[in-house]
Amino acid sequence: MRLVRFRFGDRIATGVLEGGVIRVLAGTFFEAPVPTGEEIPLDDVRLLAPVLPSKVIGVGLNYASHAKEFGGRELPAEPLLFIKPSTAVIGPQDPIPLHPMSEHVDYEGELGVVIGRLARKVSDPAEAERAILGYVCANDVTLRDLQAKDDQWTRAKGFDGSAPIGPWIETACDPADLAIETRVNGEVKQSQRTSDLVFSPVALVSYITQYMTLLPGDVIMTGTPSGVGPLSPRDRVEVEIEGIGVLENTAVAG
Ligand code: MG
Repeated sequence: MRLVRFRFGDRIATGVLEGGVIRVLAGTFFEAPVPTGEEIPLDDVRLLAPVLPSKVIGVGLNYASHAKEFGGRELPAEPLLFIKPSTAVIGPQDPIPLHPMSEHVDYEGELGVVIGRLARKVSDPAEAERAILGYVCANDVTLRDLQAKDDQWTRAKGFDGSAPIGPWIETACDPADLAIETRVNGEVKQSQRTSDLVFSPVALVSYITQYMTLLPGDVIMTGTPSGVGPLSPRDRVEVEIEGIGVLENTAVAG
């Protein structure tokens, strides 16, 4: 099932996307929403970030290939976590701002995990799996020069617009072995499979919830494969994940 959040005229609503038509839902995705009976063509709406998370949890160095290109770093023994604030989130087609304080803004195509229910100290894998609502395409946009300068990555990975997610939440896919590809202006830059993730989505939910409560709508960005690179103004970035869809954004100056 593909869950969308969208603007239609002056309304913002949620729905289920099926074959180019949105079946509008009453309420949020998290409280057993019911169809209102209204149907709107996808072409008539503007898709928004499918959720408004309380926080986005990023995971560093979760593919061996990226750890290698990131200065030959050792893979961490435990997930390496950081936070992107709720204000970092943007949706499909929203512009990615190339921050004026940075001369090197990188894309990082990633599988995003959307939490569907409150999760705290979840050790049981089956329970961790039940806490997951579905999956999105994500881009962990990073000010690479400022990341290198700082001991932690709050501004480098938490600036406004640094967390594009979308285009919808796919609830039916198995994330174990999906092709993930990032293209810039149509050229393939990253291409790998989620089976290469060091820590799986379920392992990440278990680990993160030992330290902090995950709320419905929270998003985990599971880490990027090799092939990250800088963006220039007007670059069109697409993150495509098999079985989910394509998240497209364009970089803009300032
Ligand atoms: Mg990343």
